[in-house]
Amino acid sequence: MINAARVKKLKDLLIAPKNIVIVTHWSPDGDAMGSSLGLYHYLLLKKHKVTVITPNDYPSFLSWLPGNNKVVNFSVDPKPAQKAVTKADLIFTLDFNSMKRIEKLGEYVLKSGAIKILIDHHQQPEKYADYMLHDVNACSTCELVFDFIVMMGDKKHLHKKIANCLYTGIMTDTGSFRFPSTKPKTHRIIAELIEAGAENSEIHNRIYDNNTEDKLKLLGYCLCEKMKVFNEYNTAFISLSANDLTRFNYKKGDTEGVVNYALSISGMKLAAFFVESEDKIKTSFRSKGDFDVNQFARTHFDGGGHKNAAGGMSLLSLDETIMKFVDLLPKYKKDLSK
Ligand code: 5GP
Ligand code: MN
Repeated sequence: MINAARVKKLKDLLIAPKNIVIVTHWSPDGDAMGSSLGLYHYLLLKKHKVTVITPNDYPSFLSWLPGNNKVVNFSVDPKPAQKAVTKADLIFTLDFNSMKRIEKLGEYVLKSGAIKILIDHHQQPEKYADYMLHDVNACSTCELVFDFIVMMGDKKHLHKKIANCLYTGIMTDTGSFRFPSTKPKTHRIIAELIEAGAENSEIHNRIYDNNTEDKLKLLGYCLCEKMKVFNEYNTAFISLSANDLTRFNYKKGDTEGVVNYALSISGMKLAAFFVESEDKIKTSFRSKGDFDVNQFARTHFDGGGHKNAAGGMSLLSLDETIMKFVDLLPKYKKDLSK
């Protein structure tokens, strides 16, 4: 991870107030926003001037997170975002491993002379940062932000806002503490966050019991009409066209978690989700056991992520993308039938 000498250097860097920018990945999820805003509240406590920048918008079920109203969305407000990046002494890049994941914002971050600190748990991170708090075994970036606060000797300063943010990211990235990434350490951190004021039960309500009627109807449509199961390959996929999205008044976040339903069919090893967006097809992959979807997404869909959860994209049409995926299955038959 990071040795004691580097920790000391980081501590020294953060002694005096600095201009700090925190950036996270395109289409931020619970871990991206939880880690960014958790770190934001911690750095505010240390008297820094902090700006959280997202490349684009995020789902409304995350908008209750404390500090949400201060987040700068680069797609909507490019000027203040660029200004903050230009002025920054330090830039934290959270929950992503490749500059591609922040799209156009990446050009400004790479150009900036600021010291860069990567905090992330995705596989094979690019080497652009001066400091890397990177661990693929961490269940979430929020776990690593918690570790960072401990490393800085500031565990005693954890407060309710930080705790609520970090709890959210750990909960969402572990699928509510069920994925194999959930370790004893995860539960220990969760216990400390609840002690620091995290509203655990309320957070579950805010994230998971906050559906719109349209979102649930879209899920029903996905399962009933758009799911294809290939028992021979222990694989299932769901696809949605732009028309499908319009029909159900799609809002950002409405398809989050849909891919997991396909994987929940007994015996499934691989699940995929394909959705048509403005200029490309966004792909999501999930797996159980040894099937490595990070590798699969990297090789075939210009993406990546984790061994059991990855994403990517395709510039083919939706039908062609599906055909490409289905045609790949025989090649992986041995791995999928183990
Ligand atoms: P999701 O399917 O929920 O969009 O993403 C699953 C995981 O893969 C997340 O950890 C996400 O950050 C990562 N991921 C999604 N899309 C991409 C991509 O295009 N490239 C890379 N490197 N990672 C991705
Ligand atoms: Mn994450």
